[in-house]
Amino acid sequence: MSGKEFLDSVDKVFDNAASVLNLSEQVAHQIKSPNSTYKLNFGVRIKNKMFTFTGFRCVHSEHLEPVKGGIRYAIHADQSEVEALAALMSYKCALVDIPFGGSKGALIIDPKKFNPNELEKITRRFAQELIKRDLINPSQNVPAPDMGTGEREMAWIADEYRKLNPIDINGFACVTGKPVNKHGIRGRVEATGRGVQYAIKEFFRHERDKKIANIQGGLEGKTIIVQGLGNVGYHAAKFLSKEDGAIIIAVIERDGGIFNNKGIEIDSLKKHISRTGGVKGYKGYTKNGNDLLKEKCDLLIPAALEGVINIGNARDIKAKVIVEAANGPITFGADKILRSKKVIIPDLYANAGGVTVSYFEWVKNLARIRFGRLHKREEENKIEKLLIALEKMTNTSLNHSYKKSLLKGSDEIDLVRSGLDDTMRHAYIDMSYKWHSTKKIPDLRTSAMCIALKKIALSYETLGM
Ligand code: NAD
Repeated sequence: MSGKEFLDSVDKVFDNAASVLNLSEQVAHQIKSPNSTYKLNFGVRIKNKMFTFTGFRCVHSEHLEPVKGGIRYAIHADQSEVEALAALMSYKCALVDIPFGGSKGALIIDPKKFNPNELEKITRRFAQELIKRDLINPSQNVPAPDMGTGEREMAWIADEYRKLNPIDINGFACVTGKPVNKHGIRGRVEATGRGVQYAIKEFFRHERDKKIANIQGGLEGKTIIVQGLGNVGYHAAKFLSKEDGAIIIAVIERDGGIFNNKGIEIDSLKKHISRTGGVKGYKGYTKNGNDLLKEKCDLLIPAALEGVINIGNARDIKAKVIVEAANGPITFGADKILRSKKVIIPDLYANAGGVTVSYFEWVKNLARIRFGRLHKREEENKIEKLLIALEKMTNTSLNHSYKKSLLKGSDEIDLVRSGLDDTMRHAYIDMSYKWHSTKKIPDLRTSAMCIALKKIALSYETLGM
């Protein structure tokens, strides 16, 4: 799917929701159009040759600041794609109550073609260009990782910002998704996949939604197909199989797919990919990976890129529930075919775990203190007193290892997961409630967009636009 088609798809979902809400044309226009998109070309000398790179940073909506959104490194990136992704960020933040506007950035590059030293040089130069224009700034615009980028790139960007702004005491909050030893937060790397897991667990708590999907029972033993075993797909697949007993029967990657109806061991497959660069050669390999999208399963999790479910294959999809871990994996045309037959858990909700934990990291950087540091021991002391009292009252002594597990106060990772779980639960309850409360809302996607638009419109109206 081209960037233009992707933007068109996002805008159509917007238009649907705006008409359900009866939003005035002026307000709808203000929200929908990106506030600005900056395109830059810059040169970097590598091995005595000058390479010119093209990058983008789009600011979609500044109803709240800073604006927030990842930076992706991809060869197919273009202006429309960045604008579609920035718009999704505005809607996503509003839906899950994260106090940020929406933004997104991209660099047209195949990161596999450059070694780490070269990538560092390119990233630092890209960052300088954006920092100079306040398109990276802790109070105005805060990037994060996305496709093709990770902790390493975020550490380079933060370092570049600190060099150019050495007296900004909030400097480390200029970007999130940093390594923990460089002012990051525990749980950020896993956050989007963890959020996908929490989203699915919440879906399983809603009997009415399960009935629509024709799905019974709990998550244990349910069959799942995952496309893309990168940051998001890997963590989601790992948590769902290891912690919830779901069975990952297929994984689809760039160079083919793996099928095993008894379940794929995700860590072993991930190791194979890291060692060989792809899934080829692993047990259950097939060259035609995309055919696996059509296999029978309970849940399909596209976690790679946009437009993979389109009018060409939508009618063949057999999954009962589709969880959009990637941004825009279902085109508007495919969505029309699928939405009356299946439950689609939409991207603006399903992959909101990343931005949620990014928000926690930003707050941690401003507060300059690790979550849990002040109250962990206090919590433990209180629990200990309670247990001693309980043992005295009942004249029994609790099992040692059980006692030890109860005596543990909350660490940063416990608090991050708790905050993320709470965010995902609340947003799903809101979406599901709205979906079933009026016939005008046909699905979770329209419901999610209506909730987001209402909040953004109110924010603009309060500002007196
Ligand atoms: P990533 O680069 O870590 O992983 C992407 C994976 O998809 C890789 O394993 C890649 O090999 C695979 N892939 C690429 N093209 C493919 C194809 N044609 N068929 C099958 N597999 C293919 O990226 P990511 O960070 O995991 O992001 C994946 C999606 O999730 C993107 O849409 C991104 O915008 C979205 N997302 C990511 C985050 C985050 O925190 N990283 C947050 C929100 C949304």
